[in-house]
Amino acid sequence: MSEKNILQDALTRLSNIAKTNKEYNAILEALSQPQSTLTSHIAIRKDNGSTAYFKAYRCRYNDLLGPTKGGIRFHQDADQSEVEALALWMTLKCAVVGVPFGGAKGAVTVDPKKLSPMELERLARAYIRAKADFIGPQLDIPAPDVYTNARIMGWMMDEYEKITRTKCPAVITGKPIAFGGSLGRDSATGRGAFLCIEALARKLGWDAKEKTVAIQGFGNGGYHCAKLLQDAGFKVVAVSDSKGGIYSKQGLDIESVYSEKQRSNTLKAVYCQHSVCEDVEHTRINNEELLALQVDILVPAALAGVINAKNVSQIQAQYIVEIANGPITAEVDGQLKEQGTHVIPDILANAGGVIVSYFEWCQNRQGEAWPEEKVYDKLAAYINSAFERAWQRYQQHDDSMRVVVYKLALQQLTEALEAHGTADYFSVN
Ligand code: NAD
Repeated sequence: MSEKNILQDALTRLSNIAKTNKEYNAILEALSQPQSTLTSHIAIRKDNGSTAYFKAYRCRYNDLLGPTKGGIRFHQDADQSEVEALALWMTLKCAVVGVPFGGAKGAVTVDPKKLSPMELERLARAYIRAKADFIGPQLDIPAPDVYTNARIMGWMMDEYEKITRTKCPAVITGKPIAFGGSLGRDSATGRGAFLCIEALARKLGWDAKEKTVAIQGFGNGGYHCAKLLQDAGFKVVAVSDSKGGIYSKQGLDIESVYSEKQRSNTLKAVYCQHSVCEDVEHTRINNEELLALQVDILVPAALAGVINAKNVSQIQAQYIVEIANGPITAEVDGQLKEQGTHVIPDILANAGGVIVSYFEWCQNRQGEAWPEEKVYDKLAAYINSAFERAWQRYQQHDDSMRVVVYKLALQQLTEALEAHGTADYFSVN
């Protein structure tokens, strides 16, 4: 699917889900467009002395539930439509897990792999100079996303503090711990998805040892989820990155694969003891083959639109747990349901990141630093309670988990909209 269609696709899915319920008409209208998007043309000095220009976006989609919140991605395909779709999903995500934030997102259209570390720092700082009036700890709070990380968030916070001449850690989350970052933020998105799978396993009476998993995208979300699943007994048989993937029927040793990836920047099926690694028998597969594997759980953890009209008929997984935002296009929701594939949707499955970002913001505002165990326990409480609400509704209706979760989000947003005053209240009759 063309990136240009992502917002339209997201709005079509939302309206298909909500149009039969009249009580959602008002909130659908409110969400039919972003509240505001700031686009900028930002410049940095390259190491060779030349100047390079980049398109930079920040969208605050909707702030009914609180200051807006959402990551910043650095990617060559990022555009306004994608940023706005991601910001809409953030709005729904915060609503469904009960975090008091609205939805936002940001991006720079850039291939960060083509920049030196110092050029990357200049880009991060230039982004904040362009957006400083648009963000703030009680207005809009960025975080990391694809190809941005804690170090980049640290540079961004530092730039914001220079501009405002204040100490303001709460302006951005996903920071280094030394700058007021939260313990547990790094693994939070993968952990949230893992907690959803664990909750599902409890509901379905699964034995983890009998369940196989394939994960597309071995970055922050994909790696942590894979590691936690393996620790819990699941067999992670395949992982991939942008260059392709590896498959091993007997299961991969995730920590060893991760160390090798850190060392050589290649995905290799290895088993390591201390610094000595041995190759494990495996097959090299491409990303399309990974998506088509016959596994119990498929976890897309890379980019949007990877399961679409072209490949949906090849999907064999029983469950898809969406760590990536929007990995399944709206047009194939129905076909997946017919094929018997169940989906735990992104706005629930990848909400761990924003939940712990919320904890980080709370800690910064209270001047506290919580121990890791407290973060994990509170994250589990948020995810388990959102999952339970969704599961109860899922049992009572003939809706997919996606429909159920979207309706819970719309209900929450509708309550906030109505709290501003309903037509009945303002009616003179
Ligand atoms: P990341 O940059 O750490 O990792 C991305 C991974 O995807 C890398 O392994 C990369 O090699 C791989 N990848 C890139 N292009 C690919 C392609 N064409 N095919 C297959 N793999 C490809 O990013 P992340 O933070 O793990 O985010 C991954 C997804 O999860 C994104 O959709 C992001 O929006 C979503 N997400 C992330 C967070 C978070 O807190 N990190 C929170 C919510 C949602």
